[in-house]
Amino acid sequence: MMRQFELVERVKAYDPSVDEDALNKAYVFSMKAHGQQLRASGDPFFSHPVEVAGILSRMKLDSASIVTGLLHDTVEDTLATLEDIEKRFGPEIARLVDGVTKLSRLELQSDQTKQAENFRKLVLAMSDDIRVLLVKLADRLHNMRTLKYLKDGATRKRIARETMEIYAPLAERMGMNDIKDELQDLAFGELQPDAREGIRARLAFLKEKGGNLVERVIVALDDTLEKAGINAQVSGREKTPYSIWRKMQKKDVGFEQLSDIMAFRVVVADVADCYHALGVIHSRYSVVPGRFKDYISLPKPNQYQSLHTSVIGPEQQRIEIQIRTREMHEVAELGVAAHWVYKQDATRTEGRQYRWLRELLDILDHAADPQEFLEHTKLAMFSDQVFCFTPKGDLINLPHGATPIDFAYAVHSQIGDTCVGAKINGKLAPLRTQLANGDQVEIITSKAQVPSPTWERLVVTAKARARIRRFIRTQQRTQYLDLGKVILQKAFRQDGHEMTEKALDAALDRFKCETVEDLYVAAGAGNVTGREVVSAVFPPPPDTKPAKVVSLSRARGKKAAENAVPIRGLIPGMAVHYAGCCHPLPGDRIVGIVMTGRGVTIHTIDCDKLAEYADTPDRWLDVAWNNAEDTDALHVGRLNITIGNEPGSLGSLTTVIGKHAGNITNLKITNRSQDFFELLVDVEVQDLKHLTNIIAALRATPVINSVERARR
Ligand code: MN
Repeated sequence: MMRQFELVERVKAYDPSVDEDALNKAYVFSMKAHGQQLRASGDPFFSHPVEVAGILSRMKLDSASIVTGLLHDTVEDTLATLEDIEKRFGPEIARLVDGVTKLSRLELQSDQTKQAENFRKLVLAMSDDIRVLLVKLADRLHNMRTLKYLKDGATRKRIARETMEIYAPLAERMGMNDIKDELQDLAFGELQPDAREGIRARLAFLKEKGGNLVERVIVALDDTLEKAGINAQVSGREKTPYSIWRKMQKKDVGFEQLSDIMAFRVVVADVADCYHALGVIHSRYSVVPGRFKDYISLPKPNQYQSLHTSVIGPEQQRIEIQIRTREMHEVAELGVAAHWVYKQDATRTEGRQYRWLRELLDILDHAADPQEFLEHTKLAMFSDQVFCFTPKGDLINLPHGATPIDFAYAVHSQIGDTCVGAKINGKLAPLRTQLANGDQVEIITSKAQVPSPTWERLVVTAKARARIRRFIRTQQRTQYLDLGKVILQKAFRQDGHEMTEKALDAALDRFKCETVEDLYVAAGAGNVTGREVVSAVFPPPPDTKPAKVVSLSRARGKKAAENAVPIRGLIPGMAVHYAGCCHPLPGDRIVGIVMTGRGVTIHTIDCDKLAEYADTPDRWLDVAWNNAEDTDALHVGRLNITIGNEPGSLGSLTTVIGKHAGNITNLKITNRSQDFFELLVDVEVQDLKHLTNIIAALRATPVINSVERARR
């Protein structure tokens, strides 16, 4: 196990401004916190964080990352709390440790492998500081190195799969090829031990057969370059079993046919030397066509730079050669970490953690491939998305600020439409709750539920919003449609016509409607009036003006037709009835009610019966008596009269009415008691004034107790 001072020396070697104090404190704190805990290997647990810190120091990371590496398991696995960490090491370290702790709680389930990309994004989104991810990668690397000590085979497999699907691609994305290669090979060994062993055995066999083949090629290449006056470091290696396996799979070839299992690296001083060395190698050895790639003029999005070529080498073997400068080499091995190390001198004045982010953004900004750029942008904009699990473990990717309603619609429109509540991590939560990364969300639905207009303010996803709007629009349309149909039917009947869809169809163009339903909706929404539609279908004769309406009251004698009482506001030819409930008289304030199939009924404005039409204001017509006309037509006024139960009282009643030129057309006893009779009396009068006179006269008669106009 690396000792305290060794670790400090190592960090000091590349970062003279290292916070030695913090490193020493963290080393001791972690050692005490983990105490007597043991790893599955039997080693003290504390050896693990120290190894992780060692890996991070090889990546040349800053003190905060190394300290985080030392402390990364204390919150999860010991009695130490985040508050302890913050008190001792400050908020920055506490935040980093917290980030790593949260990442460690994520576990990829086997049925989620098809969602690996989402899972990778979740990891990225949770790494709000790139150092969290780097510490996690170092942690995973050491765990993979010691994976074989775990007894539980299922757990080993899960960790290996997770490494292969999530962490190795993340390492690659950040340009950390060394770590990627090692993670992949370790995972490969766990997932397909036989395949890996087979390839290793073949490699060993070839090595033995060919003697020191790699060595001999190195010497020959070195010699060739030296003679050309190039100062280069040549190294060579067999490819890892996993990369050979991948190639065998990709090209669908057997091991024997796989020629380039050796890779060589030429490291030179500067870019000019790279192209010079390439020229020397190409002129000395036969080039394998189609394998040359210039990643110096066109770097990979993860900042990788090199010249790649394949030649038939000095031993008549096909070999792959990478040519690069020392700086490019470090970037290739360490990825973003190295990039930072190289640039930090130039920008020493700025806080390191921010420079980290800026550097990364810079790298990502210059990514060439749009697809890659997109992926990297997601890494850069850590917080623009949240990733949540369904109860089955599927990952749902949502924008930042998303609520359970967004989640429900993302799962299925039907679930969105019927959602009534949500459980987040097992606890009931309001639908307005903003979801956080890694939340497990269970949507509670009810068949009776429909989308509410208020939901529109709670959602951030386009899908949810569109769905809610569509529902509300459809609902509104249905309401307008029903109302419009009633309005039009009324308008047609008012005019004495039967409304047919065929008739409406002919008028659609006039109202710029596609279908009859559209026309109903337009009428319901008030965009067109019933009258407009009727006159579009049945255009009125040009010179008709509102004319007299025939009164249906029983006028006496032959005069009836001529003496019709005109009512203003009615359409010519419309059937008119005087309501039997209130018996309106000229002089009364009146209102017309459109009666389905029966024309218009006239009521007094204070008739109780009007309450029945309160909900259908479209049936009401503004009408008035035409006072200018003087007629002899008679109207029936109805009275409620109470008289005393005594001889001659009924006689007095009829006498008073007769004296005032009222003609009784109907008389009915509605109630009788020991002392009183209640009567309903219909009297023919000319108008309201006439009836009012009769009422006054009756009230002045001693045997009559009360007189009222009937209201219903
Ligand atoms: Mn760990």
